[in-house]
Amino acid sequence: MWNTIGHERAVTHLKLGLEKGQLSHAYLLTGPRQVGKMSLAMDLARALNCLGDERPCGVCDQCGRIERGLHADVRIAGVEAGTSRGGGSRTSIGIDQVREVQREASLKPYEGRYRVFVVDGAEHVTSEAANSLLKTLEEPPDQVVIALLAPDVDVLPPTVVSRCQRLDLSPTTSAVLRSSLMASRTIGVAAPASSTPVPAWGSHCAPSGRRSHGPPVAPATRPPRPSRPPP
Ligand SMILES: [Zn+2]
Repeated sequence: MWNTIGHERAVTHLKLGLEKGQLSHAYLLTGPRQVGKMSLAMDLARALNCLGDERPCGVCDQCGRIERGLHADVRIAGVEAGTSRGGGSRTSIGIDQVREVQREASLKPYEGRYRVFVVDGAEHVTSEAANSLLKTLEEPPDQVVIALLAPDVDVLPPTVVSRCQRLDLSPTTSAVLRSSLMASRTIGVAAPASSTPVPAWGSHCAPSGRRSHGPPVAPATRPPRPSRPPP
């Protein structure tokens, strides 16, 4: 099942692409912070590698390893993903990180069907790195899918935007959030992995476990509050 809450159009688009074998090699997921871009990217990664009949099944080994941040073929780059060469915190996604993507993208998937690279905060990609990334977007290796996450298309070079399939995400209404949480409680499944640790890539990168991957929702395992008696 898809962990993404709401965003039906985007999820349906990806589901159809999966069914027809017509997924793009590069997606640009746009929307405000915490809207669910990372949740959708992780759902896509699970769906691409899932071994179940209804992808992503959420129970197979591939889904589980991606969910727990252990999958060798699913990588994240971002400014929160580690330190720069000089040892300080990253403020941009540089050429070294993009080259690492390109190096890994040239290899066959290690344990799954697809290598999935997520660039979290693509607006922080430097011009030099964006130019380098263009080459990969123009001639994508087989079995590689890249997902760029950004607040808006305006923050990226048009040449990058034009090579990606856009999925624009708008904030999910509280009613949709509530009904999704109620549904997940009813069928006894976990809420979206809001803090799933996924390995970052790059020689100077550390696991990005502190990153939130979805909208700020309460865990589904939390028992419901007792209702107050009427005054
Ligand atoms: Zn699965």
